[in-house]
Order: sequence, then structure tokens, then C-alpha cells
Amino acid sequence: MKPFSTIKQLLEKLKQREFTGQELLDFYRKRIDKYNPKLNAFLEVFENTPTPQELSNKTILANIPGALKNNLSIKDKKITCASNILKNYKSTYDATVTQRLRETGGVIIGTTNMDEFAMGASGEFSAFGETKNPWDLTRTPGGSSAGSAAAVAAGLVPWALGTETGGSVRQPASFCGLVGLYPTYGRFSRFGLIAFASSTDQPGPLTKTVYDNALVTSALSGHDPKDSTSLAEPKKDFTKNLTGKLPKVTIGVIQDGLDSVDDEVRHSFEVAIKRLEQLGANIKPVTIPDLKYGISIYFVLCYAEAASNLSRFDGTLYGNRTKEAANLADMYIKTRHDGFGDEVKRRIMMGNYVLSSSHKKDFYERATHVRATLRAEFDEAFKQVDLLISPTTATTAFKLGELKSDPISMYLNDYFTIPNCITGMPALSLPCGYSQNNLPIGFQFIGPRLSEELIYQVAYAYEQNTDHHLKNPVGFE
Ligand code: GLN
Repeated sequence: MKPFSTIKQLLEKLKQREFTGQELLDFYRKRIDKYNPKLNAFLEVFENTPTPQELSNKTILANIPGALKNNLSIKDKKITCASNILKNYKSTYDATVTQRLRETGGVIIGTTNMDEFAMGASGEFSAFGETKNPWDLTRTPGGSSAGSAAAVAAGLVPWALGTETGGSVRQPASFCGLVGLYPTYGRFSRFGLIAFASSTDQPGPLTKTVYDNALVTSALSGHDPKDSTSLAEPKKDFTKNLTGKLPKVTIGVIQDGLDSVDDEVRHSFEVAIKRLEQLGANIKPVTIPDLKYGISIYFVLCYAEAASNLSRFDGTLYGNRTKEAANLADMYIKTRHDGFGDEVKRRIMMGNYVLSSSHKKDFYERATHVRATLRAEFDEAFKQVDLLISPTTATTAFKLGELKSDPISMYLNDYFTIPNCITGMPALSLPCGYSQNNLPIGFQFIGPRLSEELIYQVAYAYEQNTDHHLKNPVGFE
């Protein structure tokens, strides 16, 4: 068994009986034991993972181990959202994505670290310690799906689920040299995902390759009656049209924000554009005039939704309760004071401010209007081009500690990933190069709603004609 194998390679070898599902599980368990102490990517590794069955070849992920970000419910397992308020709290049911992964043969090996309640872009806001980037242990793997990205990048699992509200799958994918998807809003069920900002929250797969990503998406797709925002879309095989040949496409290069992009990232991005052109894509510059308001809209909306969603954690129904309280109100206050970290508190306070009757019009309602304008601008752009591209992040992975006490700079990390989340449109980040100090660089395809098949097709053709996905971090052999 080789480290850094793709799901596709593992499925092939399982089929040829080179090893059994149990042997594969043991192999990854050993890797986790050996390397997780360096990374702090896992919060829990399950001792009692059901012994894999020799499943039929038809099940998409038959016997393939993977991990779930710890805001996705797995029955009887701890779901902490990396917060003290939910420390030791156990899920009472499976999330729909968990159930689908099981039904398609996936083996869930454990849960991964994250920024508390998925609020952050570095993994440093976990109550259980920061996660490190396998490409450089002094740097962040990105966030909030920090552990899921670090685990896949170090070859501790071949796939992991993250969740994304405004970049939390794609930014870590970009920092860790992986492929990460934010699906069309409603493509994946949110049932059993602890809500941060419900109007953009979505689970999303992190993998080494585009094909593997499409496989996990195939396993997760399909309508879920338990989630009222789930789209009435059938299950699909997203790997079906992955031929490696670029279909006839017009790709728009988003011009906005390019000035702020670091030189090395910009260079790799430009080389990627040239490659796509050589492969036959028609390339056009595109401007989205209100893209620059993406961050402002997002933070107003996500503060508001977070304040509302997190009001349920008050010591009554879920998780920890502060013992010494004079009365009920005091119990709420102390429980929340002790249970939440600073970033979560900041967002709850800002959320209640933007929703307050005297400020609602200036912030929440205005953000809702600009959100609609931004959606219209994207719709307009998609009349001229099939897909849009941009760098995923303006820089490579930054140093741990560098932005931790500077929330505004931390928020600016999400400049390129937030706009399509606000408009509910799918986007896929994939590697397009490496910096001089060997840090991964990513770029992304953004498409109109329900264009995942086209995105995968184009991204796969690009990937198969480049070699960025073949590189692995050193020190995890
Ligand atoms: N970094 C963004 C934030 O802090 C995005 C988080 C996410 O997508 N969950 O809100």
C-alpha cells in the first residue's frame, strides 16, 4: 500500500484483491497514529469503526476510509464544533451526508479539527489546539476545515468532508494542494450539520484529485426531504464525463481584486490561464462590479445568522452548563461566557447589533439587497461565459500566529471565495502551482447554479494536462 494513493487507485486495487478493506483501514490508522501528533488534524479516531465488509464494486466508495469535520453529525460520536461549549457532546443521529457515505461504502475513521463553529480561516480558533499545514509545519493549513485539509494533504485519509460558508473548504484546499468543492447551495443536504450561517452553509469534499472529488460528490448528491433547502435534484454520477478532453468552453477571468494578489500566485494563475487556452478554451476578461462588496455583505449576513443559530447553545438543551449560577439568566450568561471563544463571541455580538431594530435597515437589509445585485451580476456574466476563474486566495499559506489577532486581515483571506457562496453558485479549487518555498497555490472555477458536471469536466481536463496534483508534502512517507 502506498501513501497518497487516490480513491480511484485504491478502488482498483481492492477490486484486484491486492489487499482487503480491513488491511486498508489498518494502514490509514497506522499513518494517523504516526503523523497526527505533528499536525493535530484529528479530534478523534474511532476505535470501533465497523469492520469493512467486502462490498460490491457498485458502491461508490466501497471500503475507502475518510474523515468528517467535527460539525457533521455521526450517531453516538462526539460533535464538538471544536468548541468548549460542546466538549463531550454526542450526536444522537447521523447527518444525511454521513448516512450517504455509509450507504455508498465509505468508512468513517474519525473526526477532524476546525475553527470553532467553522468561524475562521486558519484553524487557530479551535478550542482544542491549532492544526498545522503538512507542507510547512509553521504555517496554517487554512480554515475553517483545517483538520480535514491537513489530513488529506498528509495522506492520513484519501478523502475528508469539510463544510463551507464562505471559503472554508476551498481556502484550505488551496493552502494544502488539494481539490475542494463548494457545491450549488442545496446540492448537499445540511441535515445534521450544525448551522453557522444557514443561507450559505454546505458540506464539501476535500481530495487529492478532481476525479476523487467527483466520486465523493456522486456519493453525497441527491434530494433530501429532511432539509427544506435541499434541491429537487436526482443522484448523479459526476465522474461519467471525465474524459480528460476539454469541452468547448468560454472561460471568463475575473479581473476584480487581481491587483491585490501576491506575485507568485498571480504568475501561477496566469500560467494556468495559458494552459487552458492551449487546451482550446476561449478566454475572456470579465468584471463583476460589486464583487468588492462580497466580504462586507457576507460578514453582515453571517454575523446575523450566527447570532440567531448559536442562541440555542445556552446550557439548557445541548452541551455544557456552568454549574454555579444564581438564577436562570445568570446560567445562560455564564455558560455562554465560559463556553464560547473570542471569535465566536465577536460574531454573536456583531450579529445582534446588525439585527437590532435601530440598525437592521442599515446593515442586514442593505446586505440582503446587495446580495441580490451581486447575484444578478454573476447571472449576467454567465450569459457571456460558461465558467469564471480566479485565484482561490491572494497568498499562499500564512504563518501560524501571523493574523490571529487581526480579524480584518483574516477576513480578507476570503475575498475570492465568498462571492459565489453568497450567490449560491458552485466553485472548485484545485492546485495550479507551487511557490519558491514549496507551498501550494490554488485557483478556482466558478459556475452558474448546477454546473458541477461542467466544472468537473473542465477541471479534470486541466489537471490531466498538468502535474501539480502529483506532488506531495515531504516528511509523511
Ligand atoms: N473564513 C470565513 C469565516 O471566517 C469562512 C468560514 C466558512 O466558510 N465556514 O467566516
